Amino acid sequence: MLKTLTDKDIQKYAHQIVLKNIGLNGQKKILTSKVFILGMGGLGSPVSLYLTAAGIGTLGIADYDKIELSNLQRQIIYNQKNINKPKVEIAKKKLLSINPKLKINIYKKKITKVNIDKIIKEYDVIVDGSDNFKTKYLINESCIKNKKTLITAALRGFEAQITVIKGWLKSNNNPCYNCIFPKNNKEIKNENYLDCGIIGGIAGIAGSIQSVEVIKNILGIGKSLTGELIIIDLLYNRFKKIKFKKNKKCKICK
Ligand SMILES: [Zn+2]
Repeated sequence: MLKTLTDKDIQKYAHQIVLKNIGLNGQKKILTSKVFILGMGGLGSPVSLYLTAAGIGTLGIADYDKIELSNLQRQIIYNQKNINKPKVEIAKKKLLSINPKLKINIYKKKITKVNIDKIIKEYDVIVDGSDNFKTKYLINESCIKNKKTLITAALRGFEAQITVIKGWLKSNNNPCYNCIFPKNNKEIKNENYLDCGIIGGIAGIAGSIQSVEVIKNILGIGKSLTGELIIIDLLYNRFKKIKFKKNKKCKICK
């Protein structure tokens, strides 16, 4: 852990340090923590901005896409001048302008079962900012194998779902992603499930919640969202939380 904070750091993070659950020691821990974000779209934008602003020490960001005009409606880290440029390169510049001390690793490639384990091993907490089930199952399996906390979220229309997965833990209260959303579920099998339009603000809310869960999990404060799924429906202002247990038939986290 860092021995001391500079005066500038104390000033910069004063509003966090003053919180009794964080304090100087908590801020030191944040400054040395390593977080990986898979997907730099609607979720990755707010998550990376808030984590950088909070002083996370090392961020890994992965995305192989280029910025398109239609992204700007919700991917708030990019602007009109960035069209056709690689997302991770533009995001890196933007994040370093917020915190020049940030160590940032960019992965401008598709994350697959061949390369995911090696990348994930380098980080303390993993954030799922992907928009497809294939990637969500892949990242879930790798996080279980490598015993990493996964902060996952999904978006659809005016709705968001967020949960925290510690699936490698054997207790019943630690379901994995596959326990909650089994692969053979009919609705999930429909590949277009997540690809049906979205209101920008819901990505901001879900990403903000993910960023706070990252910090809570790094510091071990409050109550983690493990075993619980937050469901938000902004069209009807419905907010609910559903508890989940391990699925005894789950082949991934047994
Ligand atoms: Zn499971």
